[in-house]
Amino acid sequence: MQKRVQIESRKVQTVYAPLATSSLTIHSRATSQSQSQNNTIKVIQKQPKIRNRSLITRHIKQKQIFSQTDTCTNKVLTERNLEIDCSLMEPSTTTSIQQSQLVWQSPYRPHVYTIYFPYPQMLQQTRSQQFLVEQIKKPLYYKLQGQVPFKCILSAFEAAGFERSDEENWLIYWGIASKETLKEMKKYQKTNHFPGCWSVGRKDNLWIHLSKVKRKFPTEYYFIPNTYLLQYDFERFEGIRESAPKKTLWIKKPVASARGNGIKLINKKTKLTADKRYLVMDYISNPHLINNFKYDLRVYVLITSIDPLRVYMYKDGLVRFATQEYSLKSSDIKKRFIHLTNFSVNKQSPNFIANNQDMEQQVKASKWSHKEYKQQLIAQGINHKILFKSIQDVVLKTCIAAEPLLLDRNGKTSEHKNNYFELFGFDILIDETLKPWLLEVNVSPSLNSASELDAQIKTQLISDMLHLIGIEYYYKKAFRIQIKKRLFERNINEIQSINSRNFRQKVNQTDLDVMIQSLEEQLRLGQFKCLYPNKQNLFEYEQYFEYPRFHNKLIQKYFEDGSNWII
Ligand code: ADP
Repeated sequence: MQKRVQIESRKVQTVYAPLATSSLTIHSRATSQSQSQNNTIKVIQKQPKIRNRSLITRHIKQKQIFSQTDTCTNKVLTERNLEIDCSLMEPSTTTSIQQSQLVWQSPYRPHVYTIYFPYPQMLQQTRSQQFLVEQIKKPLYYKLQGQVPFKCILSAFEAAGFERSDEENWLIYWGIASKETLKEMKKYQKTNHFPGCWSVGRKDNLWIHLSKVKRKFPTEYYFIPNTYLLQYDFERFEGIRESAPKKTLWIKKPVASARGNGIKLINKKTKLTADKRYLVMDYISNPHLINNFKYDLRVYVLITSIDPLRVYMYKDGLVRFATQEYSLKSSDIKKRFIHLTNFSVNKQSPNFIANNQDMEQQVKASKWSHKEYKQQLIAQGINHKILFKSIQDVVLKTCIAAEPLLLDRNGKTSEHKNNYFELFGFDILIDETLKPWLLEVNVSPSLNSASELDAQIKTQLISDMLHLIGIEYYYKKAFRIQIKKRLFERNINEIQSINSRNFRQKVNQTDLDVMIQSLEEQLRLGQFKCLYPNKQNLFEYEQYFEYPRFHNKLIQKYFEDGSNWII
């Protein structure tokens, strides 16, 4: 790698040269060779804290280690294999040094670096600089499946120095990867979908899995409206419809569709067939209203691992309003602008109000941020913290219900443990008693930046997500020494006897790594809140897991012991 710096002639020039530099080219403003030879150049080696032996060894081999402060004449520079280029150049006072890259260094595993995602410029914010060090600059590539993704994704990649590639040198694959791609993924590569993501991402699947857990925990899982898959439950539903009170409403939806397509409200009289493409759901007819309008919440949820389970919820999100005042009159049940809160539906409405910088206008807008929503709740005397706590509860219980399915598919497709992450969009409706209802879980939630509000929230969301997941800034050697091995079943009963003194003997490297990954992610949260593993609630949610898992239990034991096993 070559560094270019410019110096002015006949001056003592200080050059900050990161350790990563393998060749230093001094461009002098001198007008002649003789002038430049009089230069004294002071090279200060900027020493990033590199604790990794193999890297240091590599630099020593290339004779690139300087003492902390090193004054070099041209002769010394030449001896040190540094080229002095005295060709005539345009005068310039700038020093451009771009050969090293800031990376996040794990405080638990100093040899592990992950890619630092600075916030894109439009956010005008700076991410925490804690644990950042300089490293050799390497090309960073992402690969895309299908169409060019949303701007927020591109700008997050761009800010971190990523380039698009169509080859196999990618660190991150954005899109739905083929089975072959998944099978061949290297340990350091990541992709944004779990193979089993559709086990919750389709409306019928979500109900199938949640209703199973709901049978076991009817009160605790009473947050998804009763659903009937017309293919299987048609007759049972017709029986229920028959005996329901006169004005009862249901909502009929395609099992696998989005954006309000094909959705309509039905009552006791609506004609229905056992059409396998549809389901029917109890209609939540008493939504909480703001200014008489129905709304729902888009909540962003990130899963970075299934075993152990790691779930995060974003602190901001969107509130989508209907555009006609709420009404339950039978003559209004066909009015989509009253009953559906989808942005794609309501943006067609003549009453749709786009987001506005002007606060007075923004209050009337058809889309809000969660921040604005919380302010409104405060104004209504509602404790938003309690409400959002119950939303977190819905989110976490849903993820726990999906865990066995996701894990099953995950184990079958990839050799390694840490290849996947998934950003889900949960649609939550709040009723007038302030109870959250889960309507749907979206795989690939819209990341379209239709307004400034969308752009702000989604750009920060994606940048935070990519920073949190920890894309390893690898160098082949380190990965070559990793032993590829599949996870094996461990004796879960042993965990009780593990403590700070014996854990290094009792757990293997894989156990230790997954545990540390959980701790590392907690240091890269940005605006995400960790729902699981969270020492406040580990025991509370333990009962909902279908099977106890070794790594979940191990982390639980670590927290239980006062988190003092690892520095
Ligand atoms: P889509 O995937 O097509 O957006 P959703 O399940 O999110 O389908 O439903 C679309 C809209 O319909 C929701 O945003 C909400 O406003 C309304 N809705 C859906 N299910 C219910 C329900 N059970 N009760 C009340 N309103 C609902």
